[in-house]
Amino acid sequence: MSNNNWDVHVIEFARSKDQPIASLVQGTHEAGLIDLPFSFVLARSGDRIVLVDTGFMKEGLGGEMSESFGIPYWISPLRMLEEFDVKPEDVTDIVLSHAHFDHMGSVYKFPNAQIYIQKREWLSWMEAMALPPQFGFLTMAINPDDLRAGFTASVEHRLTLIDGDKDNLLPGLHVRTGEGHTLGQQFVILESARGRLVVSGDCVYAATNLCGHKHDGKADGVYVPLAFGVGSVWEQLKTIDRINDEIDGDLSKLIILHDNDRWENLPLYREIDGFKIMKAS
Ligand SMILES: [Zn+2]
Repeated sequence: MSNNNWDVHVIEFARSKDQPIASLVQGTHEAGLIDLPFSFVLARSGDRIVLVDTGFMKEGLGGEMSESFGIPYWISPLRMLEEFDVKPEDVTDIVLSHAHFDHMGSVYKFPNAQIYIQKREWLSWMEAMALPPQFGFLTMAINPDDLRAGFTASVEHRLTLIDGDKDNLLPGLHVRTGEGHTLGQQFVILESARGRLVVSGDCVYAATNLCGHKHDGKADGVYVPLAFGVGSVWEQLKTIDRINDEIDGDLSKLIILHDNDRWENLPLYREIDGFKIMKAS
């Protein structure tokens, strides 16, 4: 069964302060600093209320990590969902692009949601967590409490481990593997009134990754690796190419979760305390 009725919104819930662009995109040491936005996606269709990623809470380790990563601006993802009259217990499904704390850090707030993540993403973090402390770079954006929450969900049979690409994970919602930033990263395709929209996860941090560096104002079309990741540059670029194929070069079909232009090409739905909600479909 197919479905092209996903109603899609991008919800900003945090921003870093004065983050070097060079910490995100390779070869940008001259590009200066930005306040990088953090977001997740709400997708609704029929009885389904789906989140693609969840943002993070500022409780416990999540609060400590957001401080150490320099993310002072924050509003609760739950507060933002109130704008849609969505209560945490109403969320039916959560599709996680990957396990970094800024993407799954509020997963424990949604008691009824079925959670979907790539098997490789999940198991690779079990392995990385067990490595000696000198391997800490690998897990620096992983909150162990998020892994514990995922384990609790698995005991409750609410955690589904996906093994590779899957069409119609939910009707009209497809997932594709996107190794590079993490080993089991996935990006998400949503069929909507505006066609097939791609939610980037962290396969892409900025349009520059897809379009290339600019020379005299013109992008050169050479894919640019991320400046932060645990997978290979080779796989990152192959993933960027898969996304480029899926959107057929049309950036208006790509929702970049850390979009440093703050989704300027999407219509504003609402703004709450300076955090934007954009209508994407
Ligand atoms: Zn990430």
